[in-house]
Amino acid sequence: MAELSLPFKSRYFPIKKFLDVYQKSLEDPEGFWAAEARKLYWFKTWDKVLEWKPPFARWFVGGMLNASYICVDRHVKTWRRSKVAIYWEGEPGDSRALSYSTLYREVNRFASVLKNCGIGKGDNVVLYLPMIPELLIFMLACARIGAIHTVIFSGFSAQAVADRVNDIQAKLLVTADGGFRRGKVVPLNSIVDEALTKCPSVEKVIVVKRTNSPITVKAPKESWLDDLLEQAALFVEPEPVESNHPLYILYTSGTTGKPKGIVHSTGGYLVHNCSAYKWVFNLREESVYWCTADIGWLTGHSQIVYAPLAHGAATVIYEGAPDYPTIERWWDIIEKYGVTVFYTSPTAIRMFMGYGEEMLKKYDLSSLELLGSVGEPINPEAWLWFYHYVGGERCPIVDTWGQTETGGNMISPCPGIECVPLKPGSVTLPMPGIEVDIFDEDGKPVPMGQRGFLVIKKPWPGMLLGIHGDPERYKETYWSRFPGVYYTGDYAVKDKDGYFWVLGRADEVLKVAGHRIGTAELEDAVVSHPQIAEAAVVGKADPVKGESIVIFARLKEGAEPSPDLKKELAGHVRKEVGPIAVPDEVYFVTKLPKTRSGKVMRRVLKAVANNTSIGDLTTLEDASSVEEIIKAYQELKEGEVKKK
Ligand code: AMP
Repeated sequence: MAELSLPFKSRYFPIKKFLDVYQKSLEDPEGFWAAEARKLYWFKTWDKVLEWKPPFARWFVGGMLNASYICVDRHVKTWRRSKVAIYWEGEPGDSRALSYSTLYREVNRFASVLKNCGIGKGDNVVLYLPMIPELLIFMLACARIGAIHTVIFSGFSAQAVADRVNDIQAKLLVTADGGFRRGKVVPLNSIVDEALTKCPSVEKVIVVKRTNSPITVKAPKESWLDDLLEQAALFVEPEPVESNHPLYILYTSGTTGKPKGIVHSTGGYLVHNCSAYKWVFNLREESVYWCTADIGWLTGHSQIVYAPLAHGAATVIYEGAPDYPTIERWWDIIEKYGVTVFYTSPTAIRMFMGYGEEMLKKYDLSSLELLGSVGEPINPEAWLWFYHYVGGERCPIVDTWGQTETGGNMISPCPGIECVPLKPGSVTLPMPGIEVDIFDEDGKPVPMGQRGFLVIKKPWPGMLLGIHGDPERYKETYWSRFPGVYYTGDYAVKDKDGYFWVLGRADEVLKVAGHRIGTAELEDAVVSHPQIAEAAVVGKADPVKGESIVIFARLKEGAEPSPDLKKELAGHVRKEVGPIAVPDEVYFVTKLPKTRSGKVMRRVLKAVANNTSIGDLTTLEDASSVEEIIKAYQELKEGEVKKK
């Protein structure tokens, strides 16, 4: 084997098996991924493994497949027909177990409903549903007929729904009569009613019954799913699609106010995810997987729906809040279903840490074999707490790094091949077939121990096809900073063993409880309030959520700052963006610090909000505004303390 310069020279050498696989994958990436692709089912094999016309990659060109066939049809031809595919736990305590044969029947019937509503290959369907089995069944039903689904997280507001629906010109929207959250009903259909006043493209709305809320469905545009199912056929032929036919579009925040519709392929996405799933989660037939993410995010798409079902695995889905009705809910679910692989977020781990480990002792968590963390950096204290108390010191923790855009995990321990020695807080090493590095401002690899920008050097199968309707933004966002190299927007550092540590975002994107929210998107929402002239939003370090939202706002002439206006503004942002975007602090200022070219110096505001040093201010247009902001901030802080 040719000598390769591996990105990690480790004192742990040899981690022989893993490094062999990794090295081979880099020597012949196309051969490597083609071998992985053969493990899926293709109606027709590809003509070309990779067509790379930078920055656009097309994988398995000419190959024909169907995601729903791979996730359900394959299994019902085997003993897995009677295996449980989904253990679903509703927030009020109801539950359902769906076998692969039930899932197969439902996916077919739902696909028939979609067809009867005039939906076909290439049509855009929006799914705005709570975490109920119908969401996942609709995703697979879309895939079955070649329609492209866009799941909108059910915590988003009417405006956020309307923006996304309009961006893709969706023809059909599926929602529910409500969803349960902390014992209350979230009125999804009335949010949809409000959104749809601004969405002319939507011809049809399907409403799933979940909460039995007394709502009226407005025929003929709206129909209950149950009524449509009465006319549904029991079988719909899966539509073979070319590998690069979009499987879905999923929105994520960026550095401008407009969210990006990330388009994922069918073939490359499935190949990447199925392989990554097997490596990261040490796939075993008898395992019970529980990924606590919401299906509305990439992690949910990949780790609750497509990868586990493609493997014929059993997954747990929980509808509600982690601490409802008590903080013991999650541990009860692990015991009830004998969960073996438990994959969650640092925010959740930190929240439970705050409650102490007594609650864990009441439950039998001995089924757990592997733990996982995703979505934001995990601090070593939280990692160790998770390891000691939840995993009973016997379960490795896979800290997995990926993005909506990467489609699948990219940097993570791979116990399914060979688990590298773990370090709390490090995502460890890149996965097979993935070449990453850390660059300085000039695009040169940084020395060990130095912070830089995390980049991906070669195309990978799960890579986004592009941003919906905006190829220029795709090029600009990911490929212009370092030509020919994918820019992730994250800061990272590599230690002396070559292990990667992802430090957080290098761009103007916040990670609040693992949710990605652009500051520009929040600022747009703030200034849409009639009394606000200008605003800047920054993140503040938060011991549980990772980051919290802090707003600095300048009022319009004549508007008076007041605690009521602060509350009103917080409520306004919540309404415009959704409950995930509720600011923790609002400060009224008379001036925002700006550079001479007029750009708000968010760095200054961030330092003020975080009480850290501000650094070089020589480019500030009017340095006095910094003092003013510090003064305003301190006064407000003191004022609040006094009030308490
Ligand atoms: P999203 O597209 O919403 O999945 O967010 C992707 C971003 O989440 C990445 O760019 C990172 O900033 C962050 N992230 C995801 N996983 C990790 C992880 N394991 N460690 C540190 N940051 C992470």
